[in-house]
Amino acid sequence: YRAKRTGSGVAVFDPAATALQPGTVSLETDLYRALERDELELHYQPLFRAGTRELIGAEALCRWRHARLGMVSPAEFIPLAENTGLILPIGAWVLNEACRQLAEWHRTHPQLQMSVNLSPRQFWNPQLVETVRAAIAAHNIPPGRLVLEITESVLMNVPDAEATLRRLRALGVALSLDDFGTGYSSLSYLNRFPLTALKIDRSFLRSVTGNPDGTAEKIIQAVMLLSHALNLHVTTEGIETPEQAAFIESVGGDTLQGFLLGRPVPAGQFRLPD
Ligand code: C2E
Ligand code: MG
Ligand code: MG
Ligand code: MG
Repeated sequence: YRAKRTGSGVAVFDPAATALQPGTVSLETDLYRALERDELELHYQPLFRAGTRELIGAEALCRWRHARLGMVSPAEFIPLAENTGLILPIGAWVLNEACRQLAEWHRTHPQLQMSVNLSPRQFWNPQLVETVRAAIAAHNIPPGRLVLEITESVLMNVPDAEATLRRLRALGVALSLDDFGTGYSSLSYLNRFPLTALKIDRSFLRSVTGNPDGTAEKIIQAVMLLSHALNLHVTTEGIETPEQAAFIESVGGDTLQGFLLGRPVPAGQFRLPD
């Protein structure tokens, strides 16, 4: 059995996470070795300024190139990494590798920023702030060019999340609330925590056709107004059609992300402007 951390921090047995799921146990063993075998890599999805459509940076997305299974999706191995605690060394590796790549880009493109996803589990680690500080220092990147993406569950479930987020902000990094609209957090959280940005979840984009009378369109418009009133920058993820991009620009979105404008790719295929 594996212990699972609940919102209150109490360990309970999670029947869904036992060996009854075929493949889970060996995948777990393999994940232990993935780091030392150098099987993890980062792909980078470009982020664009709304309106001008100029490249402003990238989101680093982790990939596992499994020797036999091929590419394993983060939707599969990140939860496994969280349940086993492996997210700590993996998360530290991701931060370091993303900062290394940003430093490389900065030699010719110093305006670019890098977004890195943090798991709630990393916030239970008292070393988190030091891990972030060390990654920035090791690669000598301007801290303001690093954006840490957190989810609503960090705000809701992590003890002292507010203090940790303030210490991260004190390093100079930006903090973006990912997958906004999918969780259960209260709107007052937007004010209470020291966030700099939020990302509207792509589930809202799915039904956006650009008709301003549509429900998803109205919700997005309201989120834009609220966010900007609170001085939060808004990124919209999951943009797949020109109509969606045009709609987001028409309602004042700041940053665009989605397959229409660019898929996640290995660093070697990432297109930097001339
Ligand atoms: P996320 O942080 O919300 O990342 C955005 C996800 O949406 C990525 O999936 C990306 O490929 C996908 N996406 C972007 N644009 C579009 C689009 O236009 N259409 C569609 N259908 N999808 C789009 P990916 O790479 O599979 O990652 C899934 C999730 O895994 C991420 O969601 C994030 O929560 C987690 N993840 C990925 N890398 C890391 C990591 O290094 N650390 C942690 N803690 N989590 C990670
Ligand atoms: Mg993200
Ligand atoms: Mg997201
Ligand atoms: Mg999402």
